[in-house]
Amino acid sequence: MFDIVIGLEVHIQLNTTRKCFAPEANTFDLEANTHTSFVSLAHPGTLPRLNKQALLHAAQLSMALGAKVTRKNLFARKNYFYPDLPKGFQLTQNENPIGIGGHLEVRRKDGSAFVVQIHHLHLEEDAGKSMHLADAPFTALDYNRAGVPLVELVTEPCLHSAEDAAAFLQAVRRLTRYLGISDGNMEEGSLRCDANISLKPVGSAKLGTRVEIKNLNSFRFLQKAVAFEVARQGRLLQAGEAVVQETRTFDSQTGETAGMRKKEDAPDYRYFPEPDLAPIVLSEEILQELEQALPTLPHAWIAHWEQTYNLALPTCELLAEERETAQYFDALCQNTPHVQMGANWLTKEVRNYLNNKGETSITHFPLSPTQLASLFELVQAGKISQTNASQTLFPLWVQNPTHTAQEIADEHSLWLATDSVDWDKVITETLAEMPDKVLAYQKGKTGLLGMFIAEVRKRTQNQGDPKQISEWLKKHLSGNI
Ligand code: ADP
Ligand code: MG
Repeated sequence: MFDIVIGLEVHIQLNTTRKCFAPEANTFDLEANTHTSFVSLAHPGTLPRLNKQALLHAAQLSMALGAKVTRKNLFARKNYFYPDLPKGFQLTQNENPIGIGGHLEVRRKDGSAFVVQIHHLHLEEDAGKSMHLADAPFTALDYNRAGVPLVELVTEPCLHSAEDAAAFLQAVRRLTRYLGISDGNMEEGSLRCDANISLKPVGSAKLGTRVEIKNLNSFRFLQKAVAFEVARQGRLLQAGEAVVQETRTFDSQTGETAGMRKKEDAPDYRYFPEPDLAPIVLSEEILQELEQALPTLPHAWIAHWEQTYNLALPTCELLAEERETAQYFDALCQNTPHVQMGANWLTKEVRNYLNNKGETSITHFPLSPTQLASLFELVQAGKISQTNASQTLFPLWVQNPTHTAQEIADEHSLWLATDSVDWDKVITETLAEMPDKVLAYQKGKTGLLGMFIAEVRKRTQNQGDPKQISEWLKKHLSGNI
């Protein structure tokens, strides 16, 4: 019936050492008001000073999204009254955003892709936090967040489902982590978004009236809020009623949105240029340095692995989730021809190891790509079984990462004893002693293979890799030897 149209305003807290215009540390802290200063508390006579790192982070994110980076940066005062804003205004880039345009390509789980057009990105300072504690007679205020640098990324109204909106937000988080400019931690509020949603008759070129849902701080809440709003607006329109343009809040307890303020009540921010900050110009030289410092981005890694190694998309997504993992896997590929095996190990054995340690980053994994590659060689050459490698050698090795795989295999007798046994002779003798069974096998009773394997292993005191023995047996039995 209706087309769903969504545009997101994503707020990304930058992980700079200090705040955007004030000298104190930019640190998430549960203890309130431990990171404040005269500047962020708006003592008379204090002046803002732009944190260069914040501007560079914002410029680099713009660059990574293919936005046009603004050279001459100005800030404006956005005036409004609220207790979490001691100055009475927020410094922001109003008509002069750091990045203009740009786009981000996002892959869906089924492999299809969609492109999200970015309207602009601007840098601003965050406000403090008001806490309306239950039963307390007052609202509590925490100014730790006041003045934290924030990039607001505004998309065009070009998303069309709750799932796509959440996938886009996830891609934004991954990108900011790749660039090392934000921890993207949604529980701590480092990443949050407002969702604008409207419906229009299918195929209509004219956008419908939108509703803006404020402050969604999890992927799930974003999806739920959009789904709720789509259903609500759909019911209204179907009943011939109009959607009112308004700002709504999302209640994560009930999964519903509720009206906050109507368009007519929208505040007039009386923007004007901040008189205490001179324009800040990003030189060509600085921009070039930023460009050169851009790491290979996740979508580029994924496309490369799909094309070069034919790896499946879900595997690639796992490998590309963290920049260090992507780089580790890339190094692994340089060191081994067994790329699929490398992908399997990183997504299973290595991930399990990290999970068990309560870590997520591969930086906590003690073995180097060349070390891991050397183990793959031993397995592929049939010297160590896959089972022994993953279940016995690997857990021992991560405890003793300075050893080589060979040393661990020696110490714990993990070699497949292929060399001490004359396999050809054992197999020939075994089969010669049971001609009836061999005949039965050759007539189609292939289930006998397991019995032959067991017999050969019995005669060799369970040495050798059953998989390898099975291959040899099949050759003998088919007379193909
Ligand atoms: P404001 O600053 O008042 O929030 P903007 O024009 O900057 O308004 O739009 C904010 C966001 O709303 C953008 O992400 C944009 O894509 C989205 N948007 C605008 N119109 C619509 C619409 N009709 N339906 C859905 N999203 C919309
Ligand atoms: Mg808005």
